[in-house]
Amino acid sequence: MTGVPIHVIEKLQKQLGSERLLTASSDLLVYECDGFVIEKNSPDVVAFPRDTDDVVQIVKICHSAGVPFLPRGAGTSLAGGCLPVGGGMMIVLTRMNQILDINIRDRYAVVQPGVVNLHLTRELQGTGYHYAPDPSSQGACTIGGNVATNSGGPHTLKYGVTTNHVLGLEVVLANGEVVQLGGPAEDAPGLDLVGTIVGSEGTLAIATKVWVRLTRDAQGWRTMLGVFESVEDATYAISSIISAGIVPAALEMMDHGIVTALEEAFKFGFPLDAEAVLLIEVDGLEAGLDFQRDQIIELCEKNGAREVRVARDAAERQKLWKCRKQAFGAIGRLSPSYCTQDGVVPRTQLPHILKQITKIGKQYDVRIVNVFHAGDGNLHPILLFDERDSQQVKKVLAASGEILDACLDCGGSVTGEHGIGVEKINFMTKMFSDDDLAAMARLREAFNPDNLLSPHKMLPTAGACGMEQSHPGRRAAL
Ligand SMILES: Cc1cc2nc3c(=O)[nH]c(=O)nc-3n(C[C@H](O)[C@H](O)[C@H](O)COP(=O)(O)OP(=O)(O)OC[C@H]3O[C@@H](n4cnc5c(N)ncnc54)[C@H](O)[C@@H]3O)c2cc1C
Repeated sequence: MTGVPIHVIEKLQKQLGSERLLTASSDLLVYECDGFVIEKNSPDVVAFPRDTDDVVQIVKICHSAGVPFLPRGAGTSLAGGCLPVGGGMMIVLTRMNQILDINIRDRYAVVQPGVVNLHLTRELQGTGYHYAPDPSSQGACTIGGNVATNSGGPHTLKYGVTTNHVLGLEVVLANGEVVQLGGPAEDAPGLDLVGTIVGSEGTLAIATKVWVRLTRDAQGWRTMLGVFESVEDATYAISSIISAGIVPAALEMMDHGIVTALEEAFKFGFPLDAEAVLLIEVDGLEAGLDFQRDQIIELCEKNGAREVRVARDAAERQKLWKCRKQAFGAIGRLSPSYCTQDGVVPRTQLPHILKQITKIGKQYDVRIVNVFHAGDGNLHPILLFDERDSQQVKKVLAASGEILDACLDCGGSVTGEHGIGVEKINFMTKMFSDDDLAAMARLREAFNPDNLLSPHKMLPTAGACGMEQSHPGRRAAL
């Protein structure tokens, strides 16, 4: 028996057929959490629309019955964005996975929201163009999820985040109405509603079609791996590179813990005695790249790098990127569960915040490893634990909170790219004034007046002071 009225399920079965609807508790378990494994709660029903009209019908049925509903892509959110806090309907968009159009002359593509980010990249190979946002989860995450969380990735430093690459959206509003915002042409007049929806974490509308901008492939790349004796030296090298006026396409850091796990898992030939490695890439016109490469090598060496390896060809470059993007996979070797934090600090604060993170890890006896988008000052401390041990879960939550507070103390923020979801909802009151939050709540109300679409996400409930009340079924790991 589910919490969604039986007449609603019958209507949905008529619309979708039983094979695109899950109601058995064993099936629903798959959807009880996303990449943020600390909080869990199963939805009552999961639906798999195949097109916009299916989404419209599901939303209309839920809306008229007062059933809460929540969109989900691949479920790689690390902030609990896909946690159905109050149960209800989950709308999984992964079967809306068609690339509808690729228009090279006008430099855009049109995709359904369930298209996996990497599938678009592969489809574009050989055209001379690519879709720039490349989250490290790109082999699994969907463009719809990227739009909802305004995803970044290793190449954000030079190319910007998802919002810089979305030209238009078709969305289904909370009452089932379909609207198109923007489209293939640049600079749509009027309010920037595309910009409003991007990053709204599914709280304003469900994206059912996305017009994405295509970016010309660079003529050449130089990809390097700087090997450092200390994390501090590596962070100073980062600041030196940027302050020398070089804007690398990517500037990623991995610490000793990650490098060891990667080496054990994939045998990339990383030095196991190094405290930190920097993966640095510059791209653009061939002329000038060698000069930038030499400048970077010099700056790394000045800041204590004991070695800077340069990828000799495309295969070596690909190998380096593969290892960076598989870093999270390798963590499975270190512990049964992990919690990836996502804070931002001004780049010059990196040495300070990394020391703070080490101190907090020791204080709570939690092992923390770091792999992150260093060029953006976007940290990803990864806290290792076993979710079956509630004491460890409590320590991880407390340590995570202290790390995020430390980011705020440095003048940073509590998320660079993973979003607020349910995980960081209590930090909203630390980052924004009551007036700011009230203005955001009014915006959400304009799009989602009954708050049936993605409730309990992103914005603290009106009137809640300090801690958002845990809903029954949340925090199952505690
Ligand atoms: C190993 C790993 C590495 C990662 N690396 C990065 C990284 O480099 N950069 C980065 O930004 N993130 C990263 N992430 C986080 C995550 O992959 C991104 O947030 C991604 O955009 C989520 O996509 P998804 O399809 O999995 O969305 P989901 O996790 O399914 O959903 C995320 C949010 O989007 C909403 N949503 C999903 N689809 C829609 C839609 N069509 N319309 C409206 N709302 C929708 C959901 O309700 C939820 O709030 C990483 C995660 C993992 C596990």
